[in-house]
Amino acid sequence: MRELVILGTASQVPTRSRNHNGYFLRWEREGILFDPGEGTQRQMIHAGVSASRITRICLTHVHGDHCFGLPGVLSRMVLDGVEHPVHLHYPVSGEEVVRSLVSLATPGLDLHLHPHGVEGPIAAGIEVQPLRHRIEAYGYRVTEPDGRSFLPDRLAAAGIGGPDVGRLQREGRLGDVRLEDVSVHRPGRRFAFIMDTALCDGAFVLADGADLLVTESTFSDDDAALADQYLHLTAGQAGSLARAGRAGTLVLTHFSSRYDDVGELAAQARLSAGRATVVAASDLDRLPFPRRARG
Ligand SMILES: [Zn+2]
Repeated sequence: MRELVILGTASQVPTRSRNHNGYFLRWEREGILFDPGEGTQRQMIHAGVSASRITRICLTHVHGDHCFGLPGVLSRMVLDGVEHPVHLHYPVSGEEVVRSLVSLATPGLDLHLHPHGVEGPIAAGIEVQPLRHRIEAYGYRVTEPDGRSFLPDRLAAAGIGGPDVGRLQREGRLGDVRLEDVSVHRPGRRFAFIMDTALCDGAFVLADGADLLVTESTFSDDDAALADQYLHLTAGQAGSLARAGRAGTLVLTHFSSRYDDVGELAAQARLSAGRATVVAASDLDRLPFPRRARG
């Protein structure tokens, strides 16, 4: 099961319809919470996401709209009796803020702190790349292992069905039939998460080949000067990341409270997003993980 639950979509200040940031990625057995801003615990209730599902928390940076929800979420996990280990990832320069936030939470969680200060893998299937913001920030990419897709007509022609399919997959061979005779290579799907940043190399690396690409889109193209000044993306720049990376679906979020209607931002992103499907996120949206983008 892979899906993205949007818990909040506001930058800097929440609005009547937008909570501070919060994104929950269900990724098979992992439940990864990204950037829990204030109010994330309550948004999880509205969205039907149980705190016990969280196995990992990833912070892009330690500005409040991306992490002030941490003590509440951690305390709730203790209250709910979570016993499994929970891993917390964040930029190393945010160590003091993170330790302060964690110290406010109810003790008792099996919490493991993992600061990172360089690009590269931070856990199985998860890597970070530096972004360009006013403080140290990193974006994340989660990649499914490569696998194989069976070709039903080849399986039928070889007379293989039922539990034998699983055996063939595990053992690589069944009698005279090899796995590669009846299946094709299937590249793992990719999720990318890019928050507060100006356009930079790291953002392009993360966007590359993403099936689901979540990016900040704080400003309209009309406010590009503000985006430059505060090191944020415009909607058009978010679209350009999706096009350069040949992303499948682009999810825009982290909107400035100055826009009542973000439909205009989605339209601007579409102009530069190439073939990507563009979605302007609303709080409590659920996005099933899309099929792999091809070509
Ligand atoms: Zn922010």
